[in-house]
Amino acid sequence: MKPGQPLIFNIRRFALDDGPGIRTTVFLKGCPLSCIWCHNPESMDPAPAVAFYPDRCILCGDCRRICSEGAVSMHDNRRIKRQRCSACGRCADICPAGAVELLGRYYPARELVEILMKDLIFYGTSGGGVTFSGGEPALHGAYLKPVMKELKKKNIHIAIQTSGMFDLSAFRSEILPFIDIVYYDIKFIDRHEHEKYTGRDNITILDNFQKLAGMPDVRIIPRVPLVPGITATVRNLTGVADFIKSAGCEYYELLPYNSGGIAKRHSLGRDIPAVLNGIRPDVEKEKGYREIFARCFSARVHASSYFTERYHEVIGGLSSRFMQR
Ligand code: SF4
Ligand code: SF4
Repeated sequence: MKPGQPLIFNIRRFALDDGPGIRTTVFLKGCPLSCIWCHNPESMDPAPAVAFYPDRCILCGDCRRICSEGAVSMHDNRRIKRQRCSACGRCADICPAGAVELLGRYYPARELVEILMKDLIFYGTSGGGVTFSGGEPALHGAYLKPVMKELKKKNIHIAIQTSGMFDLSAFRSEILPFIDIVYYDIKFIDRHEHEKYTGRDNITILDNFQKLAGMPDVRIIPRVPLVPGITATVRNLTGVADFIKSAGCEYYELLPYNSGGIAKRHSLGRDIPAVLNGIRPDVEKEKGYREIFARCFSARVHASSYFTERYHEVIGGLSSRFMQR
């Protein structure tokens, strides 16, 4: 890997949740945000990462013998001493049990295109295509542009999943001309909450969203993660619904809380944010959040103020059930 070359940590074929039809989803490393609930924490750092899965380990010791950095300890159930590990990947290559994995590999554009073309027939028959995700794929416009150009020669449908934290003019010139659907995360309406839980404020994100939503040829679908008590509060959902509607969007997607990031953090030797303790996916609560969002979305009356009298009328009894702070 050379400096500046983006790494891919997963290429998921036959994906059914990343856009219309059957898709291949490419996950790129590197993200300007660090959302505490992120279910792909391996995507945050642009550098390669080493994951250790203790339930697969057969204690053969091969990883310790191969590691020249002294970064493996058989007495530590996290196995890898992160401060010593250079992520060379030798332990992952030798491990007979698949208990160590090197996450993040550079694919030359031509090789990536070849992989994506393998499922051309499925894209065609299902109305599917390719989705770029991450991490933040918009960070890698120069790398993705020739890939997308090749895909478009075969008329392949292309979607992108983005945090919205990007330079809009680069996005417009390098990425947007090839994209059929932009899935755009709106996590918080309040900039301080955004900063608290993602590490960055949301000024650029909201601004980019409004501009893109105002472009006639851009199909943009906002997506709101439902993290109980964090993004999924009455106040935030009401504000986000109001904002999205104000921008002229008629569609949205609400994403159920995915707790998979906790196990991944363990495998990467990272601590689990205390605020996530006790948060579990909850189908009943989620139904309530969806109801709140839908009602606010359809009942929007004041574009400039989401915390209004009308808001109390609309969600009335639901607020006491779901207001979490
Ligand atoms: S990735 Fe390399 S440096 Fe890190 S533990 Fe494995 S062999 Fe050692
Ligand atoms: S090489 Fe794999 S199976 Fe063997 S001790 Fe290391 S992690 Fe466990």
